[in-house]
Amino acid sequence: MSIAADLLPLPSSSGREWVHGALECLAQEAARSADTHLLRLDLPAFPGIDLYLKDESAHPSGSLKHRLARSLFLYALCNGRLHAGQTVVDASSGSTAISEAWFARLLGLPFIAVMPAGTAPGKVRDVQALGGRCDLVDDPAEVLAAANAHAARGACFLDQFGLAERATDWRGNNNIAESILGQMARERSPEPAWIVCSAGTGGTSATIGRYLRYRRLPTRLCLAEPTGSAFVEGWRRHDRHALASRPTVIEGIGRPRVEPGFVFEVVDRVLEVPDAASIAAAWLLEELLGRRYGGSSGTQFVACLRLAAAMRARGERGSIVSLLCDRGERYAETLFDRAWLRAHGIDTAPWEARLRAVLRDGRGFDDGDALA
Ligand SMILES: *Cc1c(COP(=O)(O)O)cnc(C)c1O
Repeated sequence: MSIAADLLPLPSSSGREWVHGALECLAQEAARSADTHLLRLDLPAFPGIDLYLKDESAHPSGSLKHRLARSLFLYALCNGRLHAGQTVVDASSGSTAISEAWFARLLGLPFIAVMPAGTAPGKVRDVQALGGRCDLVDDPAEVLAAANAHAARGACFLDQFGLAERATDWRGNNNIAESILGQMARERSPEPAWIVCSAGTGGTSATIGRYLRYRRLPTRLCLAEPTGSAFVEGWRRHDRHALASRPTVIEGIGRPRVEPGFVFEVVDRVLEVPDAASIAAAWLLEELLGRRYGGSSGTQFVACLRLAAAMRARGERGSIVSLLCDRGERYAETLFDRAWLRAHGIDTAPWEARLRAVLRDGRGFDDGDALA
C-alpha cells in the first residue's frame, strides 16, 4: 500500500498504525467468537416459571471476564493509553487476570497480574500458561499500589475495578444484556421477570441494569451476593464507604469494599446467600447440567430458586435469567473437594437437602432478603 508523502503519519502519531492493527485484531477475535449459550433448565415443581442460565464459561478464556477484558483493552486503545510493545498490568487474582493474559497474548503484549501472595498456585499457573507474569505482593491491601507502581514505570493499567462499569458499551454492541434479551425473543416469556447476577467489579450488573431501562423493560435486576458482602451493606444503606461484615470463599464476587463500578441505583433487590448454600448449589448444578460451574453460579442459582418460589407462592408466571459465570474445573481442589470443605468448616449437606426439597416441592424458601 502506498501513501502520499504528505499523508505519512506524523512522528507523534506513528503509533496509530499499531493501534489500528490492534483494534482490527480485537474485531477479528470478536467475529471469530460465538455467542454463549442460554440454557433452559426444566423445573417441574415450578409450573409456568422458566429458568434460563447463560453459560459464560464457554468463552475462550473460561469466564464472563472475557467480555470485560476485551472491553478494557478496547477502552485503553481508544483512549490512546495503550501502545505497541507496552506492558499491560492489572490487579487481579482471579478470572480477570486469566482473560487479560489471554488478550495480551493475542495482541503480543507483555502482561503482569498483581496478586496477593496467598493466591492459589493453580491461578498463578493459569496466568503463566498464557505468557503472563504474576507479581505477588505480601499484603493484599497493597495490590492497587503495586499496580500503580508498574503504571508509573510505563505500564498500561487496565484497572478492572475502576473502569469495568464504563468500559462496556451498555447501549448495545452485543453486551451481555442485549445478548440475553435477543436469545429470549422466541421464548414464551421473552421479557424476564428477573435477571439475576452478582457483583465483582459491578460491571455486569451496571450493564444489565442500564440496558433494562434503556430498552424500557419491566424486568427487575436481582443481585445475589455472599452474606454480608460490601455490596449488600452498601446497597441497603446507600453508603459507598460500607465494608463487608464477613469474608467469603466464593471467588469473583462478595467484595470486601464498595468498588467504583457498583451502581446501586439499577439494582432492584439484593439477596444474601451463605457460602455453604452457594457451594451446595454449585454441586447441584453439576447434577442438573452435567458440567461443573464455579461458586458464584451457585450463589445466583440459590437466588433464582428463591425468586421462583416466591413467584410460585404468588401464583405468578414468567421467566428468570441468570448466569453461569465460570468453569468449575478451576475449583477442583477447593469448592469441589469434600476434604477442603471439611478443613474449612463448611458443611454443605443441610443446604443440599434443602435445595433438593425446593426443586422437588417448589417451596421451602421464605421470601426474606437473608437466608438463615
Ligand atoms: C467477576 C466475576 C463475577 C462478577 O462480575 P462483575 O461484572 O465483575 O461484577 C461473577 N463471577 C465470577 C466467577 C467472576 O469472576
